[in-house]
Amino acid sequence: MIMNEKKELQVAALENGTVIDHIPSDKLFTVVSLLNLKDMDSNITIGYNLESKKLGKKGIIKIADKFFTDEEINRISVVASNIKLNVIRNYAVVEKKEAIMPDELKGIVKCNNPKCITNNEPMQTWFHVTDKEKGLLKCHYCEKEQQKDNIKLI
Ligand code: ZN
Repeated sequence: MIMNEKKELQVAALENGTVIDHIPSDKLFTVVSLLNLKDMDSNITIGYNLESKKLGKKGIIKIADKFFTDEEINRISVVASNIKLNVIRNYAVVEKKEAIMPDELKGIVKCNNPKCITNNEPMQTWFHVTDKEKGLLKCHYCEKEQQKDNIKLI
């Protein structure tokens, strides 16, 4: 009972907007920067190190009056899978979404090949996701492969 009340408090009182839940605590600020939340005018609440049965500690972000596109949501999958998004309208969850690894990543991840043209010219990086389960990315320009766990974000 106490657990339920606590859980409700953690996601309470958003009239319209998006609740991003189940973010591993150590990835919270990466998600914040991936979604460019700093540049938003919306009312944003960030919960950090909240208790989670599944993750131990988790983060949660509530953004008022903001509805993300699938492309924006998929950017999150680069840092962590299983992140859930609840779309709230009129205080009720009207849709649940999950961050899914997209087929391509543009301008999100740095190529780890120092000789790659993307590290030497002012241009956007471009990766093909060659294996979603293992999280393998292949640079479109130099074809160097890298693992999702070792990536550097731009
Ligand atoms: Zn490259």
